[in-house]
Amino acid sequence: MTARILDGRALAAALRADVAARAASLAYRPKLAVVLVGDNPASAVYVSAKDRAAREARLDAQTIRLPAETTQAALTDVVGALNADPHVDGILVQLPLPPHVESRAVLEAIDPAKDVDGFHPINAGRLADGQDVLTPCTPRAVMKLLAAAGAALSGARAVVIGRSAIVGRPVAGLLTAAHATVTLAHSRTLDLAHECRRAGIVVAATGRPEMVRGDWVAPGAVVIDVGINRVAGGRLVGDVAYDECLGHAGAITPVPGGVGPMTIACLLENTLLAAERRR
Ligand code: NDP
Repeated sequence: MTARILDGRALAAALRADVAARAASLAYRPKLAVVLVGDNPASAVYVSAKDRAAREARLDAQTIRLPAETTQAALTDVVGALNADPHVDGILVQLPLPPHVESRAVLEAIDPAKDVDGFHPINAGRLADGQDVLTPCTPRAVMKLLAAAGAALSGARAVVIGRSAIVGRPVAGLLTAAHATVTLAHSRTLDLAHECRRAGIVVAATGRPEMVRGDWVAPGAVVIDVGINRVAGGRLVGDVAYDECLGHAGAITPVPGGVGPMTIACLLENTLLAAERRR
């Protein structure tokens, strides 16, 4: 068996075009505000990519760049001003924040109706409760890739590897809401290979390069690789040993070109949804 490769770039282009068409039909331009604190080079690249993608999808985009020494109070004030601005539909505070800032408090200051990252505890709680909310972008991307794979979720056995608040847990919640039987695995899971082998859906989000081996994957399983890891020589790899898994999986996402591009497209979709719901 050779796995079908789920082309995240093509799917993302289609979603971005859809967002652009929907945005163009509105009487206003939905607006995304991104706050970047400090000069982390990776964050600067992500923020520029989000800004560019938003403009290409006919959304208004504003990036607020603040110095690394910005205090928590000053940052919270910036968030408060964005909350109060009627033209701003989505607010994203780029993580990580400098160590002197308590990220949780800043994220909790964002108006949940403008929380396009879906990290506010009200949105996380509603998601866990099965409600339709602004879903964190990467988990939303995972679900769209599963849909593109034609994966039947109801009754399926799914294993999610990684239990972070931004990826693993919300993915497990969304899969549960879609009636899958979900195992949420993590670093203390006993015999992870066994858990994977009995799953029809494997979502890997660990930050461990190529940890999921080919012989962990049941024949025909759908494998979604969230990981982005830079290894020796500068090469990017996922959390899944892609070449090994190609011969076992029914469908698989590549890294790069899988979950990553879809995540940004889902941010644009969340901004549009936030605008439609709020205005
Ligand atoms: P975290 O570091 O927050 O969480 C990693 C999770 O993996 C933890 O739950 C941890 O378990 C688990 N884990 C670590 N080692 C193992 C192991 N050996 N076996 C089983 N589980 C293990 O990472 P994130 O969730 O933030 O990110 C995960 C990956 O996804 C990273 O590579 C990141 O770069 C990538 N990412 C990609 C995005 C995209 O747009 N494509 C967006 C966000 C993240 P425990 O809880 O026990 O410590």
